[in-house]
Amino acid sequence: MINVMKIYFENGLHVLVDGKHVLFDPTTVFGPDHQARVDAPGKPDLVVVSHGHADHCNDLSRHVDAGVPCIMHAATAEIVSRYVNVDIPSLPARHGQKMTVDGIELEAFDAAHCVGSLQFKMRTSSGDIVFTGDINHDGSMSMEPAPAIAGDVLVIDTTSWNPPASRESSVILLETTRQFIDEAISSGRPAIIYGYPLGTAQEMTTIANNMERDVNVYLDRVPFEMNRVYDKHVKQLGKYHEAGDFVPKENSVIVANLSWVKHEMDISSKIRGLARARSMVACGKKLNAMLHVEFSFHSRRDTIEKYVGDGGFKAALPFHGDHGAFPLAMYKRGVLSVDPHSGVFSFPG
Ligand SMILES: [Zn+2]
Ligand SMILES: [Zn+2]
Repeated sequence: MINVMKIYFENGLHVLVDGKHVLFDPTTVFGPDHQARVDAPGKPDLVVVSHGHADHCNDLSRHVDAGVPCIMHAATAEIVSRYVNVDIPSLPARHGQKMTVDGIELEAFDAAHCVGSLQFKMRTSSGDIVFTGDINHDGSMSMEPAPAIAGDVLVIDTTSWNPPASRESSVILLETTRQFIDEAISSGRPAIIYGYPLGTAQEMTTIANNMERDVNVYLDRVPFEMNRVYDKHVKQLGKYHEAGDFVPKENSVIVANLSWVKHEMDISSKIRGLARARSMVACGKKLNAMLHVEFSFHSRRDTIEKYVGDGGFKAALPFHGDHGAFPLAMYKRGVLSVDPHSGVFSFPG
């Protein structure tokens, strides 16, 4: 008898195979509805978290409460524990590690999206499934490029699938950021950059610390804490201080918290009140409107296509982003695909 793997999205990506139920990235953020699409999937046997952005793990705590074992990078566990204010008991995974939990075989690989981000390969009797969460094959100033993994079924982040971002746009962003810092500082003003705490803040800290001139980097509390997690798990980001300690100096770069959830900016009032400060917003939509470039730590359309081809995948499903267009593009390549948010995918069919 041929075993069949079933995959669908419902508050995360569910994989049912070999009598096991694995939930990747428990989240309430994506997905059109919350109805069960497979009869009584019940409690998962294992929860796997790709990284600490809330749209990938905001529904984790109820599984933790139910006693389901969780796997994630130790950095992600620190980040997630911060959201829910309790320690998340989890099995730590890191790049290159193989593990078997309750008979489920997994292997972890870097995803280069932010500190702690991992992609996972799961071995099953129906074939190998690779789940990327969010992934960046180009790398950035603060992250090495992600490796491409081979397998049979790929579930991949398609955030930058549509509109397609270009390699040039990340170079434009880097130059724009450097110029912004230079101009602000040259005119004797602090440069305030609003960015997401996990990912963007570490990138901006790296850019600021690699300027030709000496700068003092200050961060709001949350991005400051994320920098500390990065220091511990990746490498030292260089010099930076908490914004609460800010004393106006001529050559200051301030990385302020732009929360993607509430779009709150918790920059200390001391800094907000600086009349002569200059500010920019380093996040996709705002920058896109301002500079007509896309900025993200996500793989572009061409690198996603290359990943599918190089890995020899027979099926590829979108996780985030343009669910509608991706399956059609895969179909044209002769690769099986459905939108797991709107139907159950069986492999082999
Ligand atoms: Zn993310
Ligand atoms: Zn995401």
